[in-house]
Amino acid sequence: KETGRTLKGGEPKQLPIYPHKNKLVQAVRHNPFLIVTGETGSGKTTQLPQYLYQAGYCKDGKVGVTQPRRVAAITVAQRVAQEMKCTLGREVGYQVRFDDCTSQDTVVKYMTDGCLLREVLADPSLSQYSVVILDEVHERSLNTDILLGLLKNVFCNSAGATKGRSFPLKVVVMSATLETDKLSAFFNDCPVFEIPGRVFPVTCTFGSAVGPKDVESSFYVKEVVKVALDVHTSEQAGDILVFLTGQSEIEHACDLLFDKAENIDYRYDVLDRTVEGILILPLYGSMPTDQQRQIFQPPPPGIRKCVVATNIAATSLTINGIKYIVDSGFVKQLNHNSRVGMDVLEVVPISKSEAQQRAGRAGRTSAGKCFRIYTKEFWEKCMPEYTVPEIQRTSLTAVILTLKCLGVHDVIRFPYLDCPEERFILEALKQLYQFDAIDRRGKVTKLGELMVEFPLHPGLTRALLKAASLGCEDLLLPVAAMLSVENIFFRPGHPDKQKEAAKKHRALAATTGSMNDFATLLSVFNSCKSSDRPSAWCKENWIHWRALKSAFSVETQLREILLRLQQRRDFPVETFDGNKSELFRRCLCAGYFTNVARRSVGKVFCTMDGHGSMVHIHPSSSLFEQEAEVNWVIFHDVLVTSKMFIRTACPIRYEWVKDLLPKLHEVDVYELSSVARQ
Ligand code: ADP
Ligand code: MG
Repeated sequence: KETGRTLKGGEPKQLPIYPHKNKLVQAVRHNPFLIVTGETGSGKTTQLPQYLYQAGYCKDGKVGVTQPRRVAAITVAQRVAQEMKCTLGREVGYQVRFDDCTSQDTVVKYMTDGCLLREVLADPSLSQYSVVILDEVHERSLNTDILLGLLKNVFCNSAGATKGRSFPLKVVVMSATLETDKLSAFFNDCPVFEIPGRVFPVTCTFGSAVGPKDVESSFYVKEVVKVALDVHTSEQAGDILVFLTGQSEIEHACDLLFDKAENIDYRYDVLDRTVEGILILPLYGSMPTDQQRQIFQPPPPGIRKCVVATNIAATSLTINGIKYIVDSGFVKQLNHNSRVGMDVLEVVPISKSEAQQRAGRAGRTSAGKCFRIYTKEFWEKCMPEYTVPEIQRTSLTAVILTLKCLGVHDVIRFPYLDCPEERFILEALKQLYQFDAIDRRGKVTKLGELMVEFPLHPGLTRALLKAASLGCEDLLLPVAAMLSVENIFFRPGHPDKQKEAAKKHRALAATTGSMNDFATLLSVFNSCKSSDRPSAWCKENWIHWRALKSAFSVETQLREILLRLQQRRDFPVETFDGNKSELFRRCLCAGYFTNVARRSVGKVFCTMDGHGSMVHIHPSSSLFEQEAEVNWVIFHDVLVTSKMFIRTACPIRYEWVKDLLPKLHEVDVYELSSVARQ
């Protein structure tokens, strides 16, 4: 029943890409390397893999398509499975970190770029694939950029394209916007296939609410709600797409919208009399996929759809029927913060090119309007021209280890599309050295070879391997799994319920008998797992059951990787005598000694990584308001709002990190990159 309805509007034969089907297949056939561009929604992601399948490219291998975002990989695979009339996971499948929905039969595989990067590690010639499509390249995600460099290396080395394969690999790079000249130049002037598309004009208006002074406030949520309601009541029929920053802001905005929309009297308040109601739908990365499917369904007659989304709706997913955009002007981004010396999730103004991309979502099928809540002055003073590629703003530790394991020793002269700053590369090398993943000369150690096998942050992997070498992996595996899933603790919007939930969460922390947030995660994991009715247990304790279920699955997968590595004869073995609580925290120290803070005055802590930033305990931590009782802590991450908060923390003794800390200073970073300097 579903197919008939959802195909409307996005009917494959109506899409701009369709008239170019044969020429596109020819272009792939005649070029080892091809760039394809076209407006968002032209059909690149969903159609080209099907064309290649029909042209026989799945006979000797798979067609693999990468996406920077996991939600995109999943929803697109669902859609294509539906169009090809097959069960998801059979001919068409997807793979994202910790979730593999493919089988022996899978020939069209959507996956995150991180997954393909891990496959390159195991099989550098990608021998299972006949075509690899790197999609959404304009997003310039870190892993896609690394893949671009690796594929360039393969192709510029004339023997590379066929090495370890019985037939040459085809590579297609797809991008929504400009930058094609740069990409083509990067790949020795390879051809560019442009899918002509019609774009309708979008009128943009600036608001008066958010100006240059509001960069640090979260005032934009209310403003966005106000503008969206204005659009609903005063504009002609047509769906609204609101761009916000993240899950909590989106849920908050949806609650507000819902409350206010209830009071609309459709006899008097609404200009377009054909509009009789509003359907409010959130859209963000970690929401359940069955809920995400609703986004693509046309609303019932007379009802206006209003989707409140993160940047995922900018290019990765195309929603039909959007006529109005409400743009908050902000995005949540992982940035390397040099003040804390680590990556932090921050809310920052979007770039001007991003704002244009957002506005463009309203002009796909007819003329549209974009309402920016910020002022012209904000646009001029606070918004950069272009978004900085991720490779130039996040920590490179994990990818540098991957590159080193792939035999790319000169990581400074690797062919980057945009070079990261040398100091970022050096910082990554230094961290790898601290983790004992590389030696003084920059060569990967035995431990480094083990570390690269885990799809986790290197610090967390280090702690896990420490625990495994001491025979206590049961303490760290659940913690690593819990830290890999989002939204474990349920935080309701309503203030009374919020208090109730917070009380339960404090009680859960208290059962561990320590002020150790990592121990709380372990205890929640184990209590739920051993419960007879785990979902009821979660409900009672304000825990997201869905998140816990993922954590169980992640733990199993991590355990499998570990068991495989433990078969190796050189797997490290260590001993320790001390109590269990100390053992646990010592293992954590092995991975988090770069995240150490010491209490300076009152409730303020000072980080010890040479940056000396002032940080506070986050209210969600069991150390909150217990600060006076501790002097040294390690922490998992930092949240920057008005202040810098450390979350998921645990008290430690100085002696435990004393010997590890000097490592931060002892080594000459240039020696680490010596291969590059010779
Ligand atoms: P592009 O990659 O060029 O941006 P896509 O192939 O993603 O274009 O989208 C082509 C069309 O398919 C769009 O009209 C879009 O709305 C539709 N579409 C994509 N995914 C889904 C889905 N899960 N459900 C319904 N329609 C979809
Ligand atoms: Mg696409």
